[in-house]
Amino acid sequence: MTVRTYSRADLIDPLPGQHFIDGKWRKSAEGRTFETIDPSTEAVLAIVARGDACDIDAAVRAAHRALHGDWRDLSPAERGRLLFKLADLLEADAERFALLETLDVGKPVKEALGDIRGVCATLRYNAGAADKMEGSTIPLGRDFVDFTMLEPVGVTGHIVPWNYPLGMVARSVAPALAAGCTVVIKPAEQSPLTALAFAELCQKAGLPDGVVNVVAGFGEDAGAALVSHPLVRGITFTGSVETGRKIYAGAAQGLKPVVLELGGKNPMVVFEDADLERAAFDALDGAFGNSGQVCSSSSRFLLHRSIREEFLDRLAEGAARLTVGRGLDNCDLGPLVSKEQHAKVRSYIDGGRASGATVRLGGGRPKGLETGYFVEPTIFDGVDPASTLAREEIFGPVAVALSFDTAEEALAMTNGLGFGLVAGVYSRDISRALTFARDVEAGSVWINGWFIGGVQAPTGGIKDSGVGRERGLPGIRNYLSIKNIGIRL
Ligand code: NAD
Repeated sequence: MTVRTYSRADLIDPLPGQHFIDGKWRKSAEGRTFETIDPSTEAVLAIVARGDACDIDAAVRAAHRALHGDWRDLSPAERGRLLFKLADLLEADAERFALLETLDVGKPVKEALGDIRGVCATLRYNAGAADKMEGSTIPLGRDFVDFTMLEPVGVTGHIVPWNYPLGMVARSVAPALAAGCTVVIKPAEQSPLTALAFAELCQKAGLPDGVVNVVAGFGEDAGAALVSHPLVRGITFTGSVETGRKIYAGAAQGLKPVVLELGGKNPMVVFEDADLERAAFDALDGAFGNSGQVCSSSSRFLLHRSIREEFLDRLAEGAARLTVGRGLDNCDLGPLVSKEQHAKVRSYIDGGRASGATVRLGGGRPKGLETGYFVEPTIFDGVDPASTLAREEIFGPVAVALSFDTAEEALAMTNGLGFGLVAGVYSRDISRALTFARDVEAGSVWINGWFIGGVQAPTGGIKDSGVGRERGLPGIRNYLSIKNIGIRL
């Protein structure tokens, strides 16, 4: 098959399907491999090395050597220059990376291209910030000088999910490199290809061998070994709450700092005075973008009873127009990432029906797509707020509508779940919106817009949604350790 200027073989064959350790491609020490699947065809896309504790150990030791090698002697500005160069190389190669992403996780090429552009922006932001992270002087009195120096934390481990495979790598790896750390990346088993290609690009950009290492494989062997490795001094994880708890517990054994970006069940609260056209437009991308496989998706709609019908009519009308198909055909929605994710989302839909909720749109497999992990954009109405559908993260193209009468009720429903990632509010009354923003339990609040943010704006969750913040300058501070130096005059 020809995909734009590349054939499938052009994309897959040059990647040896091995780990990238110390600047070289390496098979697994045990020789094990696994298959990565094209979710739009269910066919094997590539065979990839399956790493375990031995491979992680080799990667971590390479990163540890690199930490004390030429990398340490580069000034922050020089590290920044390498990251700028990496961004330029990636931008020049964006189509190849986007197509690899599309084949590996199914997302439409236009979205994948947007993701790669986002990675370039992330690299450039952190490149520019590398020489701007400053310590401080501390006023201890006339007889003392006291100041702080910022130092790289050391070797950091990055455990990444499959919904934005390279985007999630860049979100934590770019600031870690800007801070002077060296890294070991464990991509998700569903989507290892772009992380591996990225590691090779880092070498082309001039990053010394061992600064960026990638070990492909599964969570329970490669991921867990990375968390427990004694030379790893920090862990950043994005993924499920369940795995996040295990990683937190594992990291605690080694007293390692963690950043955990976990799930959400993010309410979009639409008041009666909202701009409904705007809200329904945002809701389309919020609920169905990336086939709903987004931690910050608008996965719960809390609608003031007086506007719920109009809002849902608009949303259903827009959702009915969304095209579902193979990512290479550049439809609006691709398949879900894997057979397991497909089965999980299907079971939420079946459970929702069984609980008495009404399917207002979709709920099935799109016509003409008999293979591939496809699900129609689905809207549930008449949902019981206590039901699984209303309370659990589905991570699929399934919108759930609930109603409220008062702002207090909307706030109680918002704060009533264990999650605290994002909450959105739509109202023309800015005082009401800001009061809601003040009282809501969430790491981010978006007013009259969805997916507001960018590489400059810190993101992360409270409660079950995570620990710590990524992006912005706080995202770089995760990878800097403060050393205090005191001098008696
Ligand atoms: P997961 O948490 O199981 O996997 C994410 C990453 O963690 C993968 O790289 C995996 O190999 C690794 N991992 C798994 N177990 C591990 C362990 N014991 N130790 C170390 N690493 C481990 O998530 P998943 O199975 O890919 O997806 C399941 C759910 O996670 C989704 O349905 C969704 O709810 C959530 N999710 C959230 C995000 C997000 O951005 N917040 C992204 C992807 C998935």
